[in-house]
Amino acid sequence: MVTAARHPHPGETILGTGYHEHAGGKGLNQAVAAARSGATVAFVGALGTDAAGGRLREILGGDSIDASDVTEVDGPTGRAVIVVADDGENSIVVVPGANATVGVAGTLPDSAVVLCQLEIPLDTVASALEIAHERGSIIVLNPAPAASLPVRVLRLCDVITPNEHELELLGGVSALLDAGCGAVVVTRGGDGVDVHSAAGTTSFAAHSVVVVDTTGAGDAFSGSLACRLAAGDALLDAVAWANAAGALATTVAGAVPAQPRSAEIRAVLRSQHDR
Ligand code: ADP
Repeated sequence: MVTAARHPHPGETILGTGYHEHAGGKGLNQAVAAARSGATVAFVGALGTDAAGGRLREILGGDSIDASDVTEVDGPTGRAVIVVADDGENSIVVVPGANATVGVAGTLPDSAVVLCQLEIPLDTVASALEIAHERGSIIVLNPAPAASLPVRVLRLCDVITPNEHELELLGGVSALLDAGCGAVVVTRGGDGVDVHSAAGTTSFAAHSVVVVDTTGAGDAFSGSLACRLAAGDALLDAVAWANAAGALATTVAGAVPAQPRSAEIRAVLRSQHDR
């Protein structure tokens, strides 16, 4: 991440004001969120042979995430190069690197919940969901980065968790329910969450927090939701938990450092209950 007074024009060189490297990637953030919420987590992915690959493996280990299905491939680990200008506007170049090679042939751990996002090839996501569906796992898909998705993927989703922008690209709530998604959980940032299913719509207000950095809020939401579904919670109970986790994630800078632990989430829910 580079900070600069403004974005350079094509062909121009300017001086930046800062440079930081942060661990991230939706898959990593969500795995950490699920682990800190209390789940036993196995991660399927790929890392490059560069120094970043080693650092990310350490982060997985630090949260006791099983990385035995994380492969190592020649070349760079997935990267996002972000320029943030003084006006807050950012520009991002994502290099998938090792993420473009992720496959699941025979490597999908058997688990109560399978949670996927879209920073890996869509065919891999589709294969993972098919295997998970055959095994009877609960399937949660965070459809980010925003993309339109084929019905063969949507019909396998027990729960899909788009934000409002992603929802628009997917054609709206009715289109997703018609395609066969069991429940559409729309995260709406500071406006909370709406849960849509055949049973109707339930809305949750956002928790009132002092926002420091919203990066990773959506990942906190999906990861912690998957954790509670694996623990046997009903969907609305799991969403209440995830709504608190998402709020907490906005109170800390960064993505991985911002992922809250179960004790903090429980405290938020308890204080809401006491009010
Ligand atoms: P994304 O990061 O994918 O765009 P959202 O911004 O919708 O996701 O945030 C995910 C969830 O995190 C929200 O549904 C909400 O539960 C929580 N959240 C996000 N922003 C805020 C906020 N400003 N105040 C309280 N909770 C928030």
